[in-house]
Amino acid sequence: MNLENTENWGFETKAILKGQSPDPTTGATIPPIYQTSTYTLEGIGETKGYCYSRTGNPTRSAAAECLASLEGGKFGFIYPSGIGAIHAFMQQFSAGDHVVTCEDLYGGAHRLFTQFMTKVGIEFTFVDARDSDNYIKAIKPNTKLVWIETPSNPKMHLCDIASVVEQVKAINKKEDRKIIITADNTFASPYLQRPLSFGVDVVMHSCTKYLGGHSDLLLGALITSDEEIAEKLAYHQNATGTIAGPFDCWLLMRGMKTLAVRMKQHHENALTLAKWLEQHPLVKVVNCPALESSPQHELYKKQMDLYNGMISFEIDADIETVKQLVSGLKIFQLAESLGGVESLSCHPATMTHAAVPAERRKELGINDNLVRLSVGIEDVKDLQADLEQAFSKLAATA
Ligand SMILES: *Cc1c(COP(=O)(O)O)cnc(C)c1O
Repeated sequence: MNLENTENWGFETKAILKGQSPDPTTGATIPPIYQTSTYTLEGIGETKGYCYSRTGNPTRSAAAECLASLEGGKFGFIYPSGIGAIHAFMQQFSAGDHVVTCEDLYGGAHRLFTQFMTKVGIEFTFVDARDSDNYIKAIKPNTKLVWIETPSNPKMHLCDIASVVEQVKAINKKEDRKIIITADNTFASPYLQRPLSFGVDVVMHSCTKYLGGHSDLLLGALITSDEEIAEKLAYHQNATGTIAGPFDCWLLMRGMKTLAVRMKQHHENALTLAKWLEQHPLVKVVNCPALESSPQHELYKKQMDLYNGMISFEIDADIETVKQLVSGLKIFQLAESLGGVESLSCHPATMTHAAVPAERRKELGINDNLVRLSVGIEDVKDLQADLEQAFSKLAATA
């Protein structure tokens, strides 16, 4: 194997070394945090590739190159947050354009689309993405974008990426148009699922979650191999100033180095707990496509290499009992967000999905008795013992 060609490297090697050669001036093994706004020229027009940090910064470039390689893409762009990345991405569309996306879209993206993007005249249709045909049925003559998110939140529904891509590309070919397909790959991370390899045009990430992995940064990213889209994104990023700072980019690089080992442990811990919850008498349903009992288990095996740490479950009890359960947990901390090494619990109806009207929540199955867990990489025996003790207190009061 030719190791000079870094494209031949395996995932873990890329995660640790891509874009991160030793600093040429000092030999520093870890790329420095280039905390500089500007760059001194050796003469007029003589740059070393950088002139001003809004346009480009070596720490940001390194993080973008590393992440792009993990997704199998040619170009990467890092933004101050996941929502910032989505907002930046949407600027290439304009009044009269139509977008098809999923009805259980990430709440912040739903708010951005319905509260702000509609104001500039972009139209949206939200579909049940478990059946990929729903995306295709919703496509109109003015549809410019199909936006996928899989697994989705908080029910961990999967969308068949290959099927959506195949059908949209067929329409593009037949009607000579360019409907762009974008996937929010936040819940999976590139270690579990690489949408570009299925023919998706753009991958979006909230790096705040698994990529960063330690709940200590907020960043977003867009990755593509499409030169036309990449050119637009680069121009827009410089023109609007939606850039991420070098320290956050450095933290992201540090996080990505351990992505593979973390994801394996998230998978193992989450699956262990999902199986335990599944047999608990108070648990009605466990949402986790890695379970063989899941209606989407076959699709999971088809498009994901492993599962993440995200599971949700409904308990056979009222909201007061649910509150008692989550506040009784000692290791799982009650908090929004996900994807960090520490385990978190969340009550979607009153936390992450509180802005969704109650009636709509009901339609989406985000019931008051639904609990979401972001399973971390602690000793799984402790995590299970934590659930056991919190459940046993409920049994005692029941
Ligand atoms: C968190 C999240 C976002 C938004 O990212 P921020 O970094 O919080 O702005 C987008 N999509 C998904 C699936 C997320 O979980």
